[in-house]
Amino acid sequence: MKVWLDGKLVDKGSAKLSVFDHGTLYGDGVFEGIRVYNGRVFQCQAHVDRLFESARRIRLAIPYTKVELTEAMHKTLEANRRINGYIRLVVTRGLGTLGLSPFKCSDPSVFIITSDIEMYPQEMYENGMAMIIAKTIRCPARMLDPQVKSLNYLNNIRAKIEAVEAGVAEAIMLNEQGNVAECTGENIFIVKDGQAVTPGLKAGILAGITRAVVMRLGDKLGIKTAERDISPEDLYAADESFLTGTAAEVIAVTKVDDRIIGNGKVGPVTKKLLVAFQEFTDSNQV
Ligand code: PMP
Repeated sequence: MKVWLDGKLVDKGSAKLSVFDHGTLYGDGVFEGIRVYNGRVFQCQAHVDRLFESARRIRLAIPYTKVELTEAMHKTLEANRRINGYIRLVVTRGLGTLGLSPFKCSDPSVFIITSDIEMYPQEMYENGMAMIIAKTIRCPARMLDPQVKSLNYLNNIRAKIEAVEAGVAEAIMLNEQGNVAECTGENIFIVKDGQAVTPGLKAGILAGITRAVVMRLGDKLGIKTAERDISPEDLYAADESFLTGTAAEVIAVTKVDDRIIGNGKVGPVTKKLLVAFQEFTDSNQV
């Protein structure tokens, strides 16, 4: 496997960062997870834009242009003869002292990994998944800007640990107000009376790229979508629920804690959106 690291394609074994990189020491850096379908980088511009926006928000100057990084992703795919799978695009703060100040760091490091991806077993895509509401709340925006897709995922990892220990694959995180925010690596929707509702960005969530695509597909299909606060009770009482994310794509939620959602099966609105999403990723429009 070849990894793109700071402008060069290197063997996986030589793709190494210093222990003094602030990405390693403090999780100081930003990243994107991106899908590749049939040789096309899915929502490439949106991901590259989001990476630069994440970096801008933490005053991290990426030492390449958007075009250069896009070319680098394609080069990495070519070098690995990969036409389907996943790209991880990462920017770390770079070498620094043991102090926190990012302003004492040298050049940021940039690397690109491509790999296979299988997020959840196929059975879950067909029958839906069970989840819990985590006790760990989503870090409020006043503590950490959710639009910074940073290298520090401990808030989400704590919720993921709760999920795994509860015997389910994923957890829903509430925000400080007690409303539904998002999952550890996916956005969440509920369906009520035919309308697909998802928390707005003010709920303290990442502006998911899959979420935006699914909302656009909903508009095209005549499925009404809306951004609104969702309480845990709204979620329990929903007709359907589903998650969206780069890795997970679109997947139904059929159980939350000990509550069955709807009739416990993948609902009709979720199914329509799931099929539309698959058609979209199969098409030339991605
Ligand atoms: N929320 C969080 C916290 C995430 O890490 C992700 C994955 N990037 C998402 C939502 C889904 O976003 P996207 O559809 O852009 O992958």
